[in-house]
Amino acid sequence: MASPADRADRPPLTERVEELLAAGGPLPLVEAGDPVLRRGTEPYDGQLPPALLARFVDALRLTMRMAPGVGLAAPQVGVGLRIAVLEDPAPVPEEVAVARGRVPQPFRVLVNPSYEPVGAERAAFFEGCLSVPGWQAVVARHAAVRLTGQDEYGRTLDEVVGGWPARIVQHETDHLDGVLYLDRAEIRSLSSSRALAERWNAPTPHAAARELGFELPE
Ligand code: ZN
Repeated sequence: MASPADRADRPPLTERVEELLAAGGPLPLVEAGDPVLRRGTEPYDGQLPPALLARFVDALRLTMRMAPGVGLAAPQVGVGLRIAVLEDPAPVPEEVAVARGRVPQPFRVLVNPSYEPVGAERAAFFEGCLSVPGWQAVVARHAAVRLTGQDEYGRTLDEVVGGWPARIVQHETDHLDGVLYLDRAEIRSLSSSRALAERWNAPTPHAAARELGFELPE
């Protein structure tokens, strides 16, 4: 039950974000097991004033870069808003880039994103999550999706995304619905970062599928 003191001039969400940003530097990451990663998020509808939203987005970008990661969703810093950021300079060998469609993805902000599959093709690769540190698993995802929503300025997004960026979009949007990549993973593929580096750094997970005993899409 809210006491009158809770209903001050500013809504609690604004205060929460102000508090997070007050420390400066990268934001602390929330890890699996925290209910905020499972609750889903409320659509962004101006809850944060424009200047605060801009500062929050800057903090998400810094946190993602320092981690380092290629995407970060607001619940991963404990904020239940439908906002995520992506950026992938894709510093990978050519054969990996080709096999995984890992093309560079410039920094961008997704506000209220949703996706739906385009075509029936699926692509299965190892992926990880900053909220599940130390582990990766193979997830078969839609090879291409239609991404809709807005950017940080409220401009409409409606585009078809393929390759690795499609994977990032699905992973981050799932976070906003309280879904972790492990929910969709081939659980027998679960590999520690060390095992991955030692054994499964091939461009595709075919050898891992054979030796660990899980299925890949056709
Ligand atoms: Zn994640």
